[in-house]
Amino acid sequence: MTERTDCVVIGAGLIGLAIAHALSGRGTSCRVIERGRIAGGTTSTTFAWLNATSKLQEDYHRLNVAGMEGHRSWASRWGSDVTGHRQTGCLMWAGPDTATTLDDLERIFDHLSCLDYPCSRVGGPELADLEPRISFGHGAEGLLMPLDGWLDAPRLARHLAEDIVRQGGAIHEEAPVTGFLGTAPLLAGVVTADGPVHAETIVIAAGTGTGDIAAMALRSREALRPVGSDPGLLVEIAGAGAWLNRVVCFPEGDDELHMRPNVGGGLLMGADASDRMLSDEVRARRHLAARAQHYFARLDAADVMARTTARVGHRPMPADGRSIVGLLPGCDNVFVAVTHSGVTLAPAIGALLADEITGRPASPLLQEFRPDRFAWT
Ligand SMILES: Cc1cc2nc3c(=O)[nH]c(=O)nc-3n(C[C@H](O)[C@H](O)[C@H](O)COP(=O)(O)OP(=O)(O)OC[C@H]3O[C@@H](n4cnc5c(N)ncnc54)[C@H](O)[C@@H]3O)c2cc1C
Repeated sequence: MTERTDCVVIGAGLIGLAIAHALSGRGTSCRVIERGRIAGGTTSTTFAWLNATSKLQEDYHRLNVAGMEGHRSWASRWGSDVTGHRQTGCLMWAGPDTATTLDDLERIFDHLSCLDYPCSRVGGPELADLEPRISFGHGAEGLLMPLDGWLDAPRLARHLAEDIVRQGGAIHEEAPVTGFLGTAPLLAGVVTADGPVHAETIVIAAGTGTGDIAAMALRSREALRPVGSDPGLLVEIAGAGAWLNRVVCFPEGDDELHMRPNVGGGLLMGADASDRMLSDEVRARRHLAARAQHYFARLDAADVMARTTARVGHRPMPADGRSIVGLLPGCDNVFVAVTHSGVTLAPAIGALLADEITGRPASPLLQEFRPDRFAWT
């Protein structure tokens, strides 16, 4: 392929597709170049909790709120069946003797209220109504965040890809980017396994690969990579999705345990402890199955274990844990977009970066998330 386009986006995960979709909607022709398949990276191995609940720094919280607004707007435009959006709410709870304490809940309530994030206190009887299969124990109380939910992220990615093509763009799969045309500060395009693509603007949205591709763009042997890869392990119990109605955070203090129903009828679980058992999948499955059994008392442990599967995903993780979105230092036409919580953030990052690339004023929402807070070379 020898092609010419306004913009090349590297990476067909949710972030790259959201950016290409927003650019296409603003009249910019786009080619998305993907080394594997659409949504074949972290976008398919994520827990996909849509939330601003767990993001208490105000600027990062606001960016996540914008992401969730974007998901609601896409769901009302295309239908939530098409976008895979489930606005189920999220329940967080604690009891008198749990590792997360009732005081912790109160602090979270105060903090979210200060941020104007919808959140309500839930007493014991209401907890049982909301999630009748959980054994809450005596004296439990909860917080309900009604705007939270979860996403079938691969489904949304496929829909965005189809819409990009409908608007005249293209997605090239199995076409790794192996180099760049021209030299910084003004690059002329990318070199792919299928040939060169000439472009006015280049966006690197390659998830955990972003640091390596930025180093390639800067042609620097000394390049620094302020983006790491933070592995996580999720366990799914087949056929158990009906145990829960929403995303639930269980009261395990620092060892956060969260569960939700999943597409296909399973129950998806993740915990900080299982993230540390990546090399022993059976142990991780046993560990999470036992923890599920603790909260769903009438389960048969052996049966549950037999129905579990595990999968490992790699979170793109900026060095300070916060999104990196904007112009790559040292380049005039290369942008970077990489973040944890990318499922929540994709619609906001897509729209805000597309505004900037097409010459609209930069949003103050991105002010604290610029690439130039890090050294890249
Ligand atoms: C266990 C786990 C739990 C998570 N939980 C949540 C959560 O609850 N809520 C939330 O919002 N987020 C969550 N995340 C994070 C979220 O999934 C990611 O932030 C998001 O999926 C990143 O999307 P992306 O498009 O940046 O990356 P990806 O989906 O990885 O897409 C990047 C793409 O770039 C491609 N690429 C790389 N190098 C090249 C190259 N040289 N040429 C061409 N293409 C290339 C890759 O193949 C890949 O398809 C979680 C992640 C994990 C692993």
